[in-house]
Order: sequence, then structure tokens, then C-alpha cells
Amino acid sequence: MSELRRRVDAITEAADSFRVRAFFTGEKEILEAGKFSKEEYERYLDYLLEDEFRRRLVLGVIREGNGLTIDEIAHRAEFSRLEVIRHINALRYEELAERKSDGLVVAKREEQRKVPYEKIKFIVEGGLCTGCGGCIAACPVYAINFINEKPVIDEDKCIGCGICNVHCPRTFFPISLIRESLKGSPVDVETEGVSFYRQAFTAQTAKEKVKQVCQDGGIVTSILAYLFDRGMIDCAIGVRKADEEWRTQAALVTNVDELLGIAGTKYTVTPSISLLEEVKRRGFRRVAVVGVPCQIHTVRKAEVYSSELLSFLGEIVVLIGIFCMENFGHTALREIVEGRLGVKLEDVAKFNIEKGKFYVHTMSGEERSIPTKEISVLARHACHYCPDLTNELADISVGSIGSSKGWSTVLIRTKRGEKIFEEAMKEGYLIANSLPDAGMELLQKLAKGKRKRNLEALSERAKEGKYATLIV
Ligand SMILES: Cc1cc2nc3c(=O)[nH]c(=O)nc-3n(C[C@H](O)[C@H](O)[C@H](O)COP(=O)(O)OP(=O)(O)OC[C@H]3O[C@@H](n4cnc5c(N)ncnc54)[C@H](O)[C@@H]3O)c2cc1C
Ligand code: SF4
Ligand code: SF4
Repeated sequence: MSELRRRVDAITEAADSFRVRAFFTGEKEILEAGKFSKEEYERYLDYLLEDEFRRRLVLGVIREGNGLTIDEIAHRAEFSRLEVIRHINALRYEELAERKSDGLVVAKREEQRKVPYEKIKFIVEGGLCTGCGGCIAACPVYAINFINEKPVIDEDKCIGCGICNVHCPRTFFPISLIRESLKGSPVDVETEGVSFYRQAFTAQTAKEKVKQVCQDGGIVTSILAYLFDRGMIDCAIGVRKADEEWRTQAALVTNVDELLGIAGTKYTVTPSISLLEEVKRRGFRRVAVVGVPCQIHTVRKAEVYSSELLSFLGEIVVLIGIFCMENFGHTALREIVEGRLGVKLEDVAKFNIEKGKFYVHTMSGEERSIPTKEISVLARHACHYCPDLTNELADISVGSIGSSKGWSTVLIRTKRGEKIFEEAMKEGYLIANSLPDAGMELLQKLAKGKRKRNLEALSERAKEGKYATLIV
């Protein structure tokens, strides 16, 4: 096929694609909703069209070949390897292409294809939704609300663009691509436990005010305090305790005093990524995001598949990821604390998970605990399909496993994370030593265990014929 013919086909298919059409016909509703200015709407539509066009060019090349390698496709399309992988991931999810066991990519026939861009309802109803809130931030017409711990679509407002689907990390998740783009080279499967990192520390805050409120070593709060004090961020996203019974609320804080008020771990799912939308609405720009792995996954997926929308919402300065084995809804938390441990939620001063036990520390200084394996069944269902313990895609990952009490284990993953951490240390916000081998061994073991267990659960789900997140 001639180059011109391939381009004409690609532009025709792109203009007729589901997302582009829905976004184009929904102009009135989108502008009335007020999330986008007219100029932003037009820029985003251009971005969608260009993105779809390039994807269809890649598809054209795949259709012409009888099984091609990624490098052959990149060469023929004259695109970078990472861009080709990015499009192939989406084409595989759309069931327009597949990757054979020998690694060759082939096109699938249109009639074999299911409708890919359903709204995220099938993720929610299928128990795969983590409650991250990414779909809420992405929806161009404010059609999604978080009700009873899940996103609910207001069908009267929904324009059917499927942008929620693109942003959701549980529809498909391009983990290899994100790892490779963060590390700058493909990630070796040997590091599957905690995945790649540049440096590993055991660290503690040097600030007395942080020690009084933090969960472990106070590293998350110290790094954010450093960024606020140096004027490097306008705001930070985290989770606050919203009432005495430990209900939670996503929090956008704008100074160190507010930051100290949201320190400490809350074992409740909270859709804090929805607040990326508030960053823009409140006129802020530079934002630091703290989140459990599934929340950081959402932001990373948006960086790869929706960079234009993300750039309207704000500029991510750093992603600080906290470790997470599992999380709970508020009803489940009540069952654990009141039902199993016999403590009233309003009497709890602090929660903690340590050495396989879930601890409750009461206001009167009492401590009660229960083995985590006895409460795992109460975790949010989606957590049973989550492969990531150590927040492998964050810039800086922080947890307690591997360090002594009152200290944090810190994995520096990216160059920007390294720069921020080292500057915060130099400026006296925290102290850090190399993580002892025993700490890293324990962390690797637990991270591998979680990944293996939950990836197996995901493939069991697929065997049962239920939708299982495509992890590529
Ligand atoms: C649900 C959950 C499960 C966890 N499981 C483990 C585990 O198994 N092993 C382990 O080593 N560590 C785990 N952690 C991490 C650990 O509890 C600490 O958050 C981490 O060590 C950071 O400590 P710090 O003293 O530096 O944090 P701090 O300085 O106290 O700051 C904590 C930050 O986390 C934010 N935050 C609190 N709760 C949430 C939440 N639910 N979602 C998103 N952000 C939140 C706060 O807003 C604050 O900014 C878990 C955390 C959560 C939220
Ligand atoms: S996982 Fe996140 S993006 Fe996906 S449906 Fe749930 S809240 Fe929305
Ligand atoms: S276990 Fe995974 S899905 Fe569940 S809250 Fe933690 S990071 Fe999210």
C-alpha cells in the first residue's frame, strides 16, 4: 500500500473512532460543564485526533505484515519503539491487534472485536475498581461521583466518550511500558519483587513536629514539608481523617500546617486522585501526589495515555508512593475494629500493620491486634488482584517493612525522586542510612508473594470468563 493511501485510511479511521466522535459531538455539554475552556477543548480534541491517527498508522503497518516484531513496526512506521508499544497496548485492549507467543504482532479481524470503550461500570460491578478516583478527575462533564465507596455514573450527564475507561488502571495497565520509560531501559524480570530502584534507605524525619503526627519515619510528610518550604509545590494531595469514626476524605493541602494535619495512615479507600481536577479548579499548578500503589498507577497511566489532559489539570512535581498490602472500606474497618477487636472507632488514636498483625492503639494507651490473614477477606475486593506492594511506579516509595520501629524504608526510583530526596536530606529535613540487606530481603520476599498471589487470582478470574485487567 502506498504511504499516502495508508495515511488517508488512518485519518479516516481516526476521525470515525469512538472517542473522537463522542468528544466532538459532546462539545456543547463539555463546554457547559466548565472543566475545559474552549481553547483547552480544542487542544484536547486535536490531541485525541492526532493520537488516534498515529495509532491507526501503526495498525495499518501491522495489517500489511504477516506478523511483525515491535522493531519492524517502529522502523516501517518511523515511530520510536516506546510509541509503538504504547499504541500496540491500546490496540490489544481494543482487540484490533494481538501479540503471539513468539512476540510477533498481528492484526485481528474487525468482526472479532468487542466494544472496548464501555464506561467503567463493568470495572466497578466486576469488583476490580480500586476507588482511586482517576475516572472522576478525567470525566469532562462531571458525570462521575463517588457514592458508597464506588464511582457512580450519572447517565443524564454522561456523553459516552469512554475517557474514564482510558484513565482507569483496571481496564488495561501498561506496566512494562511505564517501567521502561521511567528507568530508561527495559526492566529485568529478576527485579519483579520490588521492581527497579536507584537507591534504598532506612530513614527518619529530623523534624520534631513531624515525629509527633507521622505514621512511621515521617518521610512522606518531611519531603512534602521541604517542597512547600522551598516554594517548589503549590499543593499536595493526600488523605485526611474526616470525622471521629475514621471516615476519610481526599485532601488537597496548600501549606505545612495543613500538611501536618493529614499525616498518618488511614486504612480506608479514598478517591484522592479525583482531586487532580481540584488543583486546576482552585487555580493551583504544581502538585505533589501521595498515594497507595493503585493511585500512583492511575497517574502514571494518564502520563502515558492522556498527557494532554493531565497537563491541563496540573504539573506533577513528584509522586510519593506508600507501600500497601491491602486496604478496606469504612464498613469493613468498623467490622475489624468494633466487631473483631471490641474497640469503638472513635476511641482509636492510631492504626498500624506490623509483622503480620493489624494493630489498634486507643486514646487511653491500650493496644489490640489481629493477624492480617484473618482480616484479608474483608479487604476491598480489587486489592486481591493488585500485584504491587512497594509502589513500584512512584518517584519515591515509602513503607515500614524492612526498617526498625519509627523508621521508614525508602526506595528511590527515579532521577527526579533522587534529587528531591537528597536535597531534603542535605537541608536537614531527614536522616537516612543504607537499607540493611535483611530489610531488603524481607521486602523482596513479601513483594514477590503479593505479586504472585494476586496475579494468579487475576488469571483465575480470566479462566472463569470474567473480565480481568489486561496487564501488558
Ligand atoms: C491502606 C494502606 C496500607 C498500607 N500497608 C502497608 C504495608 O503493608 N506495609 C508497609 O510497610 N507500609 C504500608 N503502608 C504504608 C505505611 O502505613 C505508611 O503510610 C508509610 O510507611 C509512610 O509513613 P510515613 O511516616 O513516612 O508517613 P506520614 O509522614 O505519616 O504520611 C503519610 C501520608 O500518607 C497519606 N495517606 C494516609 N492514608 C492514606 C490512604 N488511605 N491513601 C492514600 N494516602 C494516604 C497521608 O495523607 C500522608 O500524606 C500502608 C498504607 C496504607 C494507606
Ligand atoms: S479503579 Fe479508579 S479509575 Fe477505575 S473505575 Fe475505579 S475509581 Fe475509576
Ligand atoms: S492493595 Fe493495591 S488495590 Fe488495594 S488499596 Fe493497596 S494498592 Fe490499591
